[in-house]
Amino acid sequence: MVRPAIIRKSLAEFPVAPNWTDYEAQRAGFSWDAARRTLAGLPGGGLNIAHEAVERHAAGSGRERAAFLFLGANGVRRISYGELSRLCARFDYVLAGLGVARGERVFTLLGRQPELYVAVLGALRHGAVACPLFSAFGPEPVVTRLALGEASVLVTTESLYRRKLEKLRDRLPRLRHVLVVADPGEDCHAPPGTIDLARLMETASEQQAIAVTQAEDMALLHFTSGTTGTPKGAVHVHEAAVAHMATGTYALDLHADDIYWCTADPGWVTGTSYGIIAPLLHGVTSIVDEGEFDAQRWYRILEEQRVTVWYTAPTAIRMLMKAGTGLAREHAFGALRFVASVGEPLNPEAVWWGMEALGLPIHDNWWQTETGGIMIANTPAFDIKPGSMGRPLPGIDACIVVKDQDGAHRVASQPDTEGELALRRGWPSMFRGYLNNEERYRKCFDGELYLTGDLARCDADGYFWFIARADDVIKSAGHLIGPFEVESALMEHPAVAEAGVIGKPHETLGESIKAFVSLRAGYAPSDALRMELLGHARTRLGAAVAPKEIDFLPSLPRTRSGKIMRRLLKARELGLAEGDTSTLEGQT
Ligand code: ATP
Ligand code: MG
Repeated sequence: MVRPAIIRKSLAEFPVAPNWTDYEAQRAGFSWDAARRTLAGLPGGGLNIAHEAVERHAAGSGRERAAFLFLGANGVRRISYGELSRLCARFDYVLAGLGVARGERVFTLLGRQPELYVAVLGALRHGAVACPLFSAFGPEPVVTRLALGEASVLVTTESLYRRKLEKLRDRLPRLRHVLVVADPGEDCHAPPGTIDLARLMETASEQQAIAVTQAEDMALLHFTSGTTGTPKGAVHVHEAAVAHMATGTYALDLHADDIYWCTADPGWVTGTSYGIIAPLLHGVTSIVDEGEFDAQRWYRILEEQRVTVWYTAPTAIRMLMKAGTGLAREHAFGALRFVASVGEPLNPEAVWWGMEALGLPIHDNWWQTETGGIMIANTPAFDIKPGSMGRPLPGIDACIVVKDQDGAHRVASQPDTEGELALRRGWPSMFRGYLNNEERYRKCFDGELYLTGDLARCDADGYFWFIARADDVIKSAGHLIGPFEVESALMEHPAVAEAGVIGKPHETLGESIKAFVSLRAGYAPSDALRMELLGHARTRLGAAVAPKEIDFLPSLPRTRSGKIMRRLLKARELGLAEGDTSTLEGQT
């Protein structure tokens, strides 16, 4: 396949929705004030995410439309907007009955089962703060986050409670209520000290009035992925919905008749902003897969559910690539019209793989827990440069900054300057603080600029290119090297499924580059392959940027949200302490 540096878009080739307009026109015509008016607002004033996401549709013609299709071990459970609204009202009533006040924290520790979605939206409806935790966290990370987030209520399943919390409950004096629901396919026996939520829901009223929250009221608490250190609790407010609505349009091209699948777990911000809020705001039908990754099943879901818009992550795409293109070819993705990815840099190889396996390019986009919503994206409305994370969305002002001698941040005026990616503050879903860490929050800003901690460059066409997290950047023989560039080059070799690259202290070079590689199906580690990969990288990157060493690993250490943990590769390589590993996949 020919691989030009740019993938030109044409409506004939990529059948996207008809109301596409050109990117420049979208940006020019955009204002956050106008975006705010796309939301209804509460009757009589105020803004509540649950009202916009659920009630508004349930009160109108969208009532019978499916909000969610839950794909579980026992079949499909369809929940309409009307039913979702009734369930959320009941959960709101239950919270009121338990004396839970506005602003109190309602945590969930649940798999992707209906109760998770009802609890998050019902908590928002109640004016409480929702905080979804990833259910595979071990006991210690769960307790730490519940304590840090000052949880008043936890919704979990019987088995998760018994395994992760029962013995540690006395470390959480502020946790007043644990509401227990059945594990999927099981009966529920509420352990001592917990309440059977289903019983309260049965008798709850559906007439509970929604809380009149204001745009700036705290709505969600999200912990970061912990890729670079201890996770931070980012605070988000109801106004974030304005950004979720707008970005759902511009970056994901959502329309009410879409069948949309976001593969992220709501324990991560993607799974909430784009797995719950944005799709509901747009009135779409979301697929929720209750199971774990499985290449065969995922292809089947895309095909059988006739998914139209798919939002996933590089880690999943790399796993699909690892399983081979042949498997993809056994399926037909006729309904699919838009695919996007977030969480890590998307290697150009993965964009091309999308063309081969799905018949569509994959659109990379960039954002963080802190930004609350998508900031920079490859949208349907312009050509893709594989390897670039795209251009700033309407309403988002992004730039590259470099520090001058006095430590002040100067906005780079020349294209392709390498520096820190910064955003001009003021978009609605921006975090309003790190919980209990005002100083860390203040450090993220220089005047009007929010400093992202990521290094990037912006080319003459306004496309942003990710270089590295500031913590991962490698300094070798006077060059600043981003691991992503080296990893992408390695991934061009047919044997390589994923690669993680680090810098090792080196006497003369400062740092020398070492790569860890896991192989695709059908390849086995050998010295000959190692030499071949070293040679491939040298040809592709030049001697200064190519790795000097390559080790083979069955898989790379990654966070539960799927990000390669280079800091861990490095700590293990150098025999250093591993630091916070609470979000490491496979850790219990
Ligand atoms: P922590 O802040 O705890 O170290 P984290 O930064 O991984 O964890 P998230 O907020 O989940 O936590 O991830 C945001 C980061 O993920 C970004 O700052 C960036 O480094 C990376 N990222 C997200 N999307 C992309 C992308 N499309 N390309 C490159 N990097 C991305
Ligand atoms: Mg971060």
